[in-house]
Amino acid sequence: MDNLIVQKYGGTSVGTLDRIKAVAEKIARLQRSGKSIVVVVSAMAGETDKLLAMAEKLVDKPERREIDLLLSSGERISCALLSLALQALGCPAEAMTGRQIGMRTDDAHTRARIISIDVTKAVKKLKENKVIVVAGFQGINEEGDVTTLGRGGSDTSAVALAVALKAKQCEILTDVDGVFTADPNIVPEARKLDVVSFDEMLEMASLGAKVLQIRCVEFAKKYNMPLLVKSSFDDQSQGTLICEENKDMEQPIVSGVMRDDKQAKITVKGVVDKPGIASEIFSALAKAGLSVDMIIQNISEEGHTDISFTLASGDCDEAIAIMEAIASKIGVQEIISDRKISKISIVGAGMRSHSGVAAKMFKSLSAEKVNILMISTSEIKVSCIIEKKHSKLAVQKLHSVFKLDKKPRKVTQKS
Ligand code: ADP
Ligand code: ASP
Ligand code: MG
Repeated sequence: MDNLIVQKYGGTSVGTLDRIKAVAEKIARLQRSGKSIVVVVSAMAGETDKLLAMAEKLVDKPERREIDLLLSSGERISCALLSLALQALGCPAEAMTGRQIGMRTDDAHTRARIISIDVTKAVKKLKENKVIVVAGFQGINEEGDVTTLGRGGSDTSAVALAVALKAKQCEILTDVDGVFTADPNIVPEARKLDVVSFDEMLEMASLGAKVLQIRCVEFAKKYNMPLLVKSSFDDQSQGTLICEENKDMEQPIVSGVMRDDKQAKITVKGVVDKPGIASEIFSALAKAGLSVDMIIQNISEEGHTDISFTLASGDCDEAIAIMEAIASKIGVQEIISDRKISKISIVGAGMRSHSGVAAKMFKSLSAEKVNILMISTSEIKVSCIIEKKHSKLAVQKLHSVFKLDKKPRKVTQKS
């Protein structure tokens, strides 16, 4: 379908009835201009958190299956309302839940992965000239139970639909103009990036730039589906294009500074230093589906050592319980957790061909008396764990040290 547009509107963009009306007008205009349109919506801003808080008031550890059913209702509300708003404008539209759009997932409740989408029904409706309004963030598993795709998952619903319907690109409409050199709500001087490669965006999303869910970028990269992130509030917004790296792209040494405040550090102290211990610890965590980020093992003293690792703070309680369960087997003396940490990262494709970037980052942090607790690097990023109380200052400082408010000169790659 050459005239197909797939758009996703985030929570703030459909946060009030007035916003829903404004979005409906925009879509109706597109429809009148002859486009076939699939719109994916998030729950109205704050709705998912509100529903989650209600469940947590009833029970400490709610069942994930019930949480999925509960949270998916947020997106059902916004998609039904947007469809009604379109119909009120005389624009034929049909709202569809994850089940109705044929979104099949595995059964990892609250963090399900998409397995397939049966778009037969969607294609039929599009041919009938209807705008399809899809409830994002949700699917069904083999048993027909509702699943959700992890926080921010409507981004992934949209990309998966764009891929299944063979759209040329997927538009993500949000409350900022695009992807910036840092969160514009923390660094007012942050500059919008015109083009970002999938690899850079993958790092940015996994390091705290919540403008896109990481799985959405993984999906887009895997299927080479370009993403256009732009403002739903400003029709003139050119946005940021996220696509495959090419030789014409700017390759700044550092493209952005990211902050992730939702991190926790766990230290298992005094474990016996012998082969197989790290494997015990991290296999147990992996078995429970917990992703560990950084790992440090101390120098051994008298046959014992300390192992520290970081993970998402939401997984901290579960990880502690897992460590307690294997404590006697691996000889743990003490388990310590710290949630007052943040991960600060710099990302840039140009780092591949430049040295000294990490040193500059460490020097800038030390000049602000910010202590670095852990470090990890990849080809195109450097991350530091620091105390949470310094995180805003650290982001602002690094943004200014790496001159991210200025458009970079073109960096030539070493061959
Ligand atoms: P939506 O509800 O539309 O999905 P999100 O709140 O999930 O929107 O993502 C948009 C937010 O991401 C912005 O309001 C901004 O505060 C935040 N953000 C964090 N880092 C960045 C960045 N580097 N560029 C743009 N936005 C960012
Ligand atoms: N409503 C869900 C959330 O708040 C999904 C999304 O917005 O993409 O995480
Ligand atoms: Mg989002």
